[in-house]
Amino acid sequence: MYRILEHTMINLVLFGPPGSGKGTQAQKIIEKYGLVHISTGDLFRYEMSHDTPLGQQAKAYIAKGELVPDSVTIGMLRNKVEAHPDAKGFIFDGFPRTIAQAEALDALLLEKGTAVMALIALQVHDQEIVKRIKLRGATSGRTDDSDEEIIRNRISVYKNETSPVFDYYASKGKSHSVNGIGSIDEIFGRLVDVIDQTAVAARA
Ligand code: ADP
Repeated sequence: MYRILEHTMINLVLFGPPGSGKGTQAQKIIEKYGLVHISTGDLFRYEMSHDTPLGQQAKAYIAKGELVPDSVTIGMLRNKVEAHPDAKGFIFDGFPRTIAQAEALDALLLEKGTAVMALIALQVHDQEIVKRIKLRGATSGRTDDSDEEIIRNRISVYKNETSPVFDYYASKGKSHSVNGIGSIDEIFGRLVDVIDQTAVAARA
């Protein structure tokens, strides 16, 4: 029993619309739980800033607020997971963003003898999201954060293509929602409650 407990990986999907605070909260979660953080948005920005072939492929989609094609994104994600064979667990931030990505993630984790433990969605309404992203755009240098039309497109892509991922994991009993409005520490506290409860349940 204790052996099984020791080897249970904590694999979390941090979910929510653009600008809902996933990156900020992911940093705090990795500090507390010692997980490996994989943000597909950060990975794409790194590739773009180094002008790699992958970055060049992603650029046009990101500039328009569209999703990078699944084949490209899934391949990049697999490489990143396989670069950390000894991870205690992963926090996936900005992935999966489509049902096809969710299925690919499940297949990949199954190959490694593990699975997604929980998906946790940060709930923030549209008006607040647009406000936060514009504020971030003023200092981040992210061009996809500056133009309201592109921001609105990202929100509609989220609603049409990404939100079904919540239902996909809900059907497996793995989806949870937390209120994403409040101070960073308040929201973190809500996330910790869900993570600790699901970790206990996974080990029961
Ligand atoms: P945000 O959550 O604020 O929209 P991200 O940094 O997660 O920002 O993503 C920025 C952009 O990178 C997205 O709008 C999209 O174009 C691209 N991207 C990131 N993750 C994925 C993914 N899993 N699948 C497809 N495209 C992605």
